[in-house]
Amino acid sequence: MTDPQLEPMPDDWERALAVVAHPDDLEYGCSAAVAGWTDAGKDVTYLLASRGEAGIDTIAPVECGPLREREQRASAAVVGVSAVEFLGHRDGVIEYGPALRRDIAAAIRRHRPELVITLNHRDTWGPVVGGWWSTPDHRAVGRATLDAAGDAGNRWIFPELLTEQGLQPWNGVRWVAVAGSSTPTHAVDATPGLERSVRSLMEHHTYLEVLTDKDPEDYCREFLTGNVRQLAPRFGGLPAVGFELFPRQ
Ligand SMILES: [Zn+2]
Repeated sequence: MTDPQLEPMPDDWERALAVVAHPDDLEYGCSAAVAGWTDAGKDVTYLLASRGEAGIDTIAPVECGPLREREQRASAAVVGVSAVEFLGHRDGVIEYGPALRRDIAAAIRRHRPELVITLNHRDTWGPVVGGWWSTPDHRAVGRATLDAAGDAGNRWIFPELLTEQGLQPWNGVRWVAVAGSSTPTHAVDATPGLERSVRSLMEHHTYLEVLTDKDPEDYCREFLTGNVRQLAPRFGGLPAVGFELFPRQ
């Protein structure tokens, strides 16, 4: 049985908030789509639960956090994203729970997005059978983001967001789109944004230096091009960034 064709992602929206655990998650996951959206005049904000300070074996977290934050901001700028926020949860031990949901719900209330994006919240990456194990941070942040889309609209779940921070409930999230899902339902043509997604991932200089002996540009192009080609047979032959879409209304 062949997999079904993917639907085009909705584009009747103005603001998106992309919420992930670490610097580089969005660059590996979906920045070619983000580049296309910002080209079309849409407003995209990045929210990172941690600074990725535990991500480089040879650099202590105290030094690594600020460095990765800088690289993430540069990386976002390449695809037209100027607003990048960090929640400051501890990399590697991000806990799923009310504290994380509240922080994400607060950001949703501040930015009032119609589309929320996150990264694969399930246990594994890749094929549904025989995939590889993800990390606790990805699971925690993905699940908390899916939940926070609802929390943001309910005045009674985190009432302190209104009483202490003046953040009115926002019930306008229409979809949560999960990038990197093993079971995508929708896609975006990666062609216009692909080159910038390569440049964007390359901004994570320090991380890539430690990760691979390959030339960073070759590594990034190979990885991202390979990724978007995989979905082409399910999207009219176009290289595609896939999303599993959870509609909310
Ligand atoms: Zn990650």
